Amino acid sequence: MILQRPLFICDHAERLICPLPLKIDCYRGCSTRCAYCSLNGLRTGINGFDGVQPNSIRFIEKFFYRRKTGMERALIDQRSPIQIGISSDPLQPIEKQYQVTLRVLRILQDRQYPTVITTKFPGQLTESGYLGAIEGLPLAVQSSVSTQDQALLKRLEPVAPSLQNRIAALQTLSDAGVHVQLRLWPYIPDLAGNLDELLGMAHDAGVKDVLCNFLKIYHAGGTCLKINKAVGRDYLKSTCLKYRNAGLFKIASYEDQIRELSHVQDLCRGLGLNLLTCDDFIGTRNWQDCCGVGHYPGFEPSPWAYYVNGWRITDHTSFQEYISNYDCPWHDEFESEWNKGKLARSISGLIFNEEDKTYSRRNEDVWRLR
Ligand code: SF4
Repeated sequence: MILQRPLFICDHAERLICPLPLKIDCYRGCSTRCAYCSLNGLRTGINGFDGVQPNSIRFIEKFFYRRKTGMERALIDQRSPIQIGISSDPLQPIEKQYQVTLRVLRILQDRQYPTVITTKFPGQLTESGYLGAIEGLPLAVQSSVSTQDQALLKRLEPVAPSLQNRIAALQTLSDAGVHVQLRLWPYIPDLAGNLDELLGMAHDAGVKDVLCNFLKIYHAGGTCLKINKAVGRDYLKSTCLKYRNAGLFKIASYEDQIRELSHVQDLCRGLGLNLLTCDDFIGTRNWQDCCGVGHYPGFEPSPWAYYVNGWRITDHTSFQEYISNYDCPWHDEFESEWNKGKLARSISGLIFNEEDKTYSRRNEDVWRLR
């Protein structure tokens, strides 16, 4: 288990793929206790749900005010948007006591720095100190919700606010000029409740972009048992979806994901909402960044990242062809990862050509049905 730093760049192949590689976690651990959370199996390094601790504000501050070198600093100088809330919710209840996120927002406001916050507690941002701290800040708030079914939501996300509370907060933030997004995440089609209603509420609150990704059931941390307890039955044995093993976790089959995401896409289209998914199995993204912030004023996601620049990979595309004209701060490291075939191991639609260190695109029909 890795102890993650409060401000960090996502690691290894992820930084080649993610258009927002710069991250902040204001807390270590998360008390929100979501049944499906991968927290115990991944990177927080302390007791997951129970050992929540504030991260060092001075550590975060130094990258903005004192440090002059390093990759983090290079990205900050490029004004690469920063994402807050990766391994813990930045506005979880402990924020009322320590206000680390409020202080981070003030640092970012001081520099008018493009910011993305991922949270289940958007209502905290509508309190007066926070509204002051986000005034004029280029800000996107992604509010995560796993289901419209309110009774089930309370069991899946026992500490998080109600759906109505989250939607009302998005409305207030949207009225204040914040870009608000619905994060239908994790998406569990047979537990998501009335999606039509959920998307309609989000739309009426000012949401234009919906981010949707399927549930990953991590093998570590007793995740499966927690989900069973929340839904009141053996979920994997009773679901109509086919789950498959994918390394650290189980996830629905490609066929299930494509079918269900196509359904969500139809619902979104009917409401004029933009649907984005990380893997883009249904081809809706058209090389927008997967967080959908690239079309907001003041936000410029990393242009070299696969989900922005990947259209350049066609047939035997070389690293030089891929990276030309981009000032990527880890050019040499990227080239080395490229030459090891890392991109193909992380992205389903690519093939690595070992003989000439190039990549080609897989026939879509073949990889979709794998
Ligand atoms: S809010 Fe996020 S990090 Fe916290 S328990 Fe829920 S899923 Fe995990």
